[in-house]
Formats: sequence, C-alpha cells, structure tokens
Amino acid sequence: MTAFADRVEHVSISGIRKVFEAAGEDAINLGLGQPDFPTPAHARRGAIEAIESGRADAYTSNKGTPQLREAISAKYDRDYGLEIDPADVIATSGGSEALHLALEAHVNPGEEVIFPDPGFVSYDALTHIADGTPKPVGLRDDLTLDPATVEDAITDETAAFIVNSPANPTGAVQSEADMREFARIADEHDVLCISDEVYEHIVFEGEHHSPLKFAETDNVIVVSACSKTYSMTGWRLGWVVGSNRRIERMLRVHQYGQACASAPAQFAAEAALTGPQEPVREMVDTFEERRDLVLDGLTDAGLEVPTPEGAFYAMPKVPDGWCEEVLERGVVVVPGDAFGANGAGYARLSYATGTEELKEALEIMAEATRAVR
Ligand code: PLP
Repeated sequence: MTAFADRVEHVSISGIRKVFEAAGEDAINLGLGQPDFPTPAHARRGAIEAIESGRADAYTSNKGTPQLREAISAKYDRDYGLEIDPADVIATSGGSEALHLALEAHVNPGEEVIFPDPGFVSYDALTHIADGTPKPVGLRDDLTLDPATVEDAITDETAAFIVNSPANPTGAVQSEADMREFARIADEHDVLCISDEVYEHIVFEGEHHSPLKFAETDNVIVVSACSKTYSMTGWRLGWVVGSNRRIERMLRVHQYGQACASAPAQFAAEAALTGPQEPVREMVDTFEERRDLVLDGLTDAGLEVPTPEGAFYAMPKVPDGWCEEVLERGVVVVPGDAFGANGAGYARLSYATGTEELKEALEIMAEATRAVR
C-alpha cells in the first residue's frame, strides 16, 4: 500500500473554505482575504508589454529578474531607509511561497515555530509541512502579539517565531517598541524572526515598522508580496529578503521547487513597484473609511471590537451561535477558531467589499446579534 507522509497528515483544509461552501450564492461575502480593487493599470501593462515583446517567455534567474530585485531593493530604501542588496532577495510565487521557503530552510524535524493565535492559517500548516512543531501563542487584549509572550515560549527546541503586522485575521498593528523587542529577542536567543509584512502598506494610524531595521544579527528575514498592496493576489508574486547566507539556503528550496517565479508576474511587479503609488493610497483611504464604518456598526450593535489599525479585517468578540446566525441571514464571516483555538468566541470580517454591501451586512449583523442574545 502507498503510504502518506505524516507531516502532510496533520494539515487540514482551511476552515475558511468550509464557510464559503455553506453560503448561498446571494450571500454578502465578508470572508475574503483579497482587496476588491483592480490591479493598477501600469502593473498590468508591465506584464502585457513583456509578454508581447517575448521577454516573459523564458525562465528568469532563479532569484528573479535583476530589474525586479533592484525595484524591491529600492522599495526598502524608499519606505524604510533600509539598504538591501538585490542579491539578497528571492522573488517568489506570492508571500505564501516565501513563508514556505523560510520554514523549509530553517526548521529541523520537530523544532518549534512560535506564531500568533489567532493567526494566519498558513503558519500552522507550513510548520507541519516543514516537519516542525507548531507552537501557537495567545495575544494581548488589543489582539497584538506581546514580545514577552514570544520570549517566554522560546525553548532550546525553538527554530523560529513569526510576527505578522498588520495582522490577518485581527487587523492589529505592532508598535515600533514591539518590533524593536522582536529584533532583540531574535538576536539574544539566536532564533529566527520571520516578519510577515504582506499588509505593510495598509496601515491607518502611524506607520509600519519592520524588525529588520532593528536587528543586529541576520536573525530577521522579511516576507512580503504585491498581493495585497497592489491588489495582485492572482498574479502570485511575493519575495523574501534576508542575509546572503539565508537567501542562499532558501534558494536551494526555491530553485528545485519552483525554478523561478512566473515571468509575466515579475514584470507586472516591477512596474507596480517602480510606477505611481497613488492607487495604493486611494485603496488604503477607502479601507480606512470602511474600517470606521465597520467599527461604528459593530459597536452600535453592542459588540466589542478592538480597533484594527491596518489590513482590511476586523475581529469582534461574538456571542455563541453568532457566526451561524449571521450566515443563515446571508452574510459570510469566518469564525475566529479557523485561525487557531484562541480565536474561538471571535469572528473575522473582511471589509474588502463594497460600501453599500457593507452597510447592508452591518444591519444584518446587528439583527443577528439581537437574535442570539
Ligand atoms: N501572509 C498573510 C498574513 C496573509 O494574510 C496572506 C494571504 O492572505 C499571505 C501571507 C499570503 O499572501 P500571498 O497571496 O502573496 O501568497
């Protein structure tokens, strides 16, 4: 009989998909993890021109085209004053592949990976796939990750911890002080900090800080992507940034698993990163307006919800049976326990959906709240 690998046995299909399947066709979908905006025209044109000229026909260098890696390096300088050698970047198939490379290249069998709970569903799954041991840790009341919680969870078996700001599913943004602490912890305990920054540009209050800026060793690596910033989830283009020795290790996985990121997507990403950034600002402004609408609506309905300062999610505390009631009334939300055991009693709402639909959904959620209380 053919056997299945144990490390895949522990991976279950995301709870999010189950909710979509249960929803009717006319449901208002607040379950989506992707912006409801078009990819900027200049990014699309970058791919179209590359395809028509034949430049996108062949494999690129394994790490990605030199021009794209230059554009990523320039982005870090522009945004954070960070000097990144383009040789220390791998263009990947979305942030997902970048996370996969980071874990595959750094986790030995059984070693622990600490990550936020509730947290992005891939952290647990990719840790299993890398044959590591997931170690989810709880959040503060405001749904940020306390560096002290991470530090307390570190043992001799810890390979890495994951920080995600702005965060999915909570919309929480870590402070600069927290990011400095995460860098210190990575340095002092000699564990890897994987900073998942795919929502880095969707911040409403203050700004995003990367622990990469504060680390004194090469124990911080950064994962990011075009997916959320440029509404390019379908293009599958992300990257990982780290020291040269870490990049070379991750390249061993990427080279044989992927060869290179899709060439047309690389040209689109280069155009997105080097072209006008107004579409990003417009999208973020719209998300902020909707965030306020959602906060007001949920608070008026009597729900407690920490103020999300980034991404496009809100995570209210909800009474028992609330998610089912809301779904029955035609609004899709994701039960918080799809993001880890500590997510029980919460729901994730995405406001990457039209304002009118959001208003309707908020009314329905208020009715559902009255019904289950
Ligand atoms: N990290 C977080 C926190 C996410 O929410 C997502 C997607 O939802 C990803 C990474 C993966 O992004 P990509 O679509 O670029 O693979």
